Amino acid sequence: MKNLYCRLFNHDLIIKNEITKFVKEYTCSQCGKHYTTSDQGELIPLTDKRREINKTLKVLYNKRKKLKQPVY
Ligand SMILES: [Zn+2]
Repeated sequence: MKNLYCRLFNHDLIIKNEITKFVKEYTCSQCGKHYTTSDQGELIPLTDKRREINKTLKVLYNKRKKLKQPVY
């Protein structure tokens, strides 16, 4: 019964973790499932593997943000 809402109205996604400007981790407030953004910008289930990729991505992204100055 809990998932009926999702089937009828789509997931009610809340941003839980912002990885980059485009990749984010979501949780559905209705069914509690976790989702993330794929490389193609699609919404995909957040697996352990994806979580690891996102973690690495976030570190790289933050590093790059700090290195705004040109490299000589
Ligand atoms: Zn849902």
